[in-house]
Amino acid sequence: MLRDLLINKELFETLREKFLESDDGGMNTNEEIELLEKAVFNRLKKKRSVKRYKKLGVSKGDLKEIIQLADIISLDAIGGPSNYELAKEHQEWCTICGRCCRESESIFIHKDELNLLLTFNPDLEKGIIRNKLYPEHFELKDIRPCKFIDDETNKCGIYNSRPQVCRSYPLVLIESNGKAKNIINLRSKCNYSVNLILEKSMILFDEAIRRLRD
Ligand code: SF4
Ligand code: SF4
Repeated sequence: MLRDLLINKELFETLREKFLESDDGGMNTNEEIELLEKAVFNRLKKKRSVKRYKKLGVSKGDLKEIIQLADIISLDAIGGPSNYELAKEHQEWCTICGRCCRESESIFIHKDELNLLLTFNPDLEKGIIRNKLYPEHFELKDIRPCKFIDDETNKCGIYNSRPQVCRSYPLVLIESNGKAKNIINLRSKCNYSVNLILEKSMILFDEAIRRLRD
């Protein structure tokens, strides 16, 4: 019910279906999305207690629907901050747990950043291979874990010249309808990612309540 105040139901279903079907290099599998949504729900119900909005007819199901919307849209669609703006503003949500450096399936290197990366890390040449999905680009070889992560501190050994994809994580730049956009890599064990979706869900929830009261 609440979500319908923010987006047309048919449009939501089309976008969600497309989102669940897309496989951006194995990112955001249905299982991961489910785990992430569960993790966000557990935090959201403490921040936006359904009891408080009971008189307005709000239920737990509304919270779940709002989270599903937060997964797939950027808030600039409703005049709010973009994924990039939110992530930039809240870097403290990264707990430096190192999971992204230990568990990522590929560390992508754009062809335009290869020279710069090799200038600062000449030893890296043998550690780079063609990207499996996009052969005009590259990726780090022998990852999981990435060999640059320090086992004790979780710090990156090439921090100042690390690939762009590492700088942006958990945001991932993709092309959609000819435009570049940042989507959030939905990982239930990444505190940064969970908080980004949580924050978006709270903003969407508040906006829906405002519209409901109007
Ligand atoms: S971005 Fe996420 S997974 Fe990576 S170190 Fe930060 S909290 Fe951990
Ligand atoms: S290059 Fe650095 S930031 Fe990127 S995955 Fe490896 S350790 Fe992490």
